[in-house]
Amino acid sequence: MPDFLLIVDEDAVLEVMRLVGGEDAVNIVKFLMKNPSKSDEEIASALGMNVKDVRRILHKLIDYSLLTYDVAKDKDTGHRIFRWRVQQDQVLGYIKTQIRRMVERLKAKLEYEQSHQFYYCGTKGCRKYTFEEAVDKLFRCPVCGNMLNYYDNSKLIEALKQKLQVLEKSI
Ligand SMILES: [Zn+2]
Repeated sequence: MPDFLLIVDEDAVLEVMRLVGGEDAVNIVKFLMKNPSKSDEEIASALGMNVKDVRRILHKLIDYSLLTYDVAKDKDTGHRIFRWRVQQDQVLGYIKTQIRRMVERLKAKLEYEQSHQFYYCGTKGCRKYTFEEAVDKLFRCPVCGNMLNYYDNSKLIEALKQKLQVLEKSI
């Protein structure tokens, strides 16, 4: 088992593939993890897919450097054959980049939550307003018309901190 699977589990890898190329990409990657160095045609016939669709997804994944290939020459036809493999360390790098971005977004959100007071009407689906916004709306929700009351966001802040801790540990 490659090392990175111990750090980032296989589900996370497949989730990245799903984001990049949808369910078909997940199936192709699952197949290539078990059967490395297969050609477009072999992948297509094993998965019962159209070769054109397989190639489209392979090229999408290679754009993100998530796959790599070796080129061989067919002895009979002389055509070039591409044999595909999952680029596992690149997948890890890609996941780490995504996690780093998530950490940045969460930090910004935490900073925002910590530096503002919020007012909320309590209606599901309505948004929360900062103090300045609530003053501007005369403490009435412009959507449902209920009063905007002080909203304690300390639980949200705690949850954000915990999430950040987990994510930062994983990179
Ligand atoms: Zn409301």
